[in-house]
Amino acid sequence: MNSNSKKTLYWLQSGGCSGDSMSILNLDSPDFFSKLGMLNIDVIWHPSLSTLSAREHDAMIEDILNDTMELDILCLEGNVVMGPDSTGMFDTFRGKPKRDLIQALCQKANYIVAVGTCAAFGGIGSHLGDELNGIGLQQHHDKKGGFLGENFRSKKGLPIINLPGCPIHPNSLEFILNMLSRGLEIELGPNATPTSYYETTVHQGCTRNEHHEYRVEENVFGEEGCMFFHLGCKGPTTHASCNKHLWNEVNSKTRAGVPCFGCTNTSFPHQSAFFETPTIAGTPLHLPEGVDRAYYLAYKDMAAAAAPQRLKKKVEEDE
Ligand code: SF4
Repeated sequence: MNSNSKKTLYWLQSGGCSGDSMSILNLDSPDFFSKLGMLNIDVIWHPSLSTLSAREHDAMIEDILNDTMELDILCLEGNVVMGPDSTGMFDTFRGKPKRDLIQALCQKANYIVAVGTCAAFGGIGSHLGDELNGIGLQQHHDKKGGFLGENFRSKKGLPIINLPGCPIHPNSLEFILNMLSRGLEIELGPNATPTSYYETTVHQGCTRNEHHEYRVEENVFGEEGCMFFHLGCKGPTTHASCNKHLWNEVNSKTRAGVPCFGCTNTSFPHQSAFFETPTIAGTPLHLPEGVDRAYYLAYKDMAAAAAPQRLKKKVEEDE
């Protein structure tokens, strides 16, 4: 893609809720449309934002498919619906399974971005039973392949770039559009997610880290302790930048007192219940990533005993 020329972006929605589209509209400093202008990106189609007639839209798709129009960036929001009975007819475009259109456009796009957890890994629709059978573009939960197959590459030789999140963090899409439009290389992690946004965990940067360290546990919402031990926080096992790039530049779930739901995880939303921590003999079943259970058991009581009074105070007051 020539960095000086106008780049085309086609936004396709499939099995999803449009939450990612809502999220990108929350981008600020600058807002989404100003950012697109700065990057010289032309959104040739977005189902909620475009004003093309159905006929004009069909003609444009024809132009892309017969190579009259170049498609630089294809964004897919939502999973690829395969049901019922593998027909794909639960999600259609002009009377045909929408997956056919997805497949055809993927063959033409220079770069493809899976926007949100549904498009990346299947997400919510992949847990709604075999009848719907929604799958990710190139990965289904933690299994490589998905709809396009593990070996698929876009015209510029890249795999699908996964930007999970339910919804996506607007800054992560802004980052990817920046990189693609400038022709810069993007480092991808094991789940084909950009390391700049998905290498660290939500736990890193949480303002309750000190509470976690000393096991000052929140039992009831609003106590100002760590929500890992009882209230289902998945921050230490979730790779996302929510406490590094704050939402609306001011906040995150855990900073607002809501546990991390693990929405960027490949198994989302079925890792475990949202507001409760599964335990074995009083210890969380899923320990922070990389922590050895034997060491953790030896350390946890000592840490709680050493907790400073200034941290315990608020929790004790509320008990
Ligand atoms: S509330 Fe969650 S993210 Fe914050 S310190 Fe505790 S476990 Fe980590």
